[in-house]
Amino acid sequence: MVSFHPNLCYSQAMKMSPELLWLRPFVMCAKDLCNIKRIDGIRGYAVPLDKSEQGDAQIIETIATKRVVILIRVMNHRAKNGIVVSRSPSYISEILDHLAHELAHLKHWEHTPKHYKLQTTIMRRFASILEEQGITDTWKRIKLPQSKKWKCRAR
Ligand SMILES: [Zn+2]
Repeated sequence: MVSFHPNLCYSQAMKMSPELLWLRPFVMCAKDLCNIKRIDGIRGYAVPLDKSEQGDAQIIETIATKRVVILIRVMNHRAKNGIVVSRSPSYISEILDHLAHELAHLKHWEHTPKHYKLQTTIMRRFASILEEQGITDTWKRIKLPQSKKWKCRAR
């Protein structure tokens, strides 16, 4: 009998940016709530220093194939009077909020009450994982790979 580690199975199909690999158990816990097999990749990105952005994450669907890519911002700007004063990695809490929101779109594409209910259900599961792992403080910033050269998304 061959048994697969569930994380291993999905990691082959789903490409994840190194800085977001820690999200894998969070994605897996939603597998009975939405079709996570549609996800081709989860990518982190940073907004260029000279640009600002209102959104924090996106889900992009290829209509013909129904395959999706999820983009999550992993680096924030803090600007004062138009001058960027710092750029730092996002908080765990922000990233999990965004992930739950985008995963809920796999089942409910529009921002309907059903979508937000599913997002809430996913967040409750995320909270259980955090508790199990003893992570009580989500106001911690994610760790970014040291040598990563950030590809900035032009807008
Ligand atoms: Zn949305």
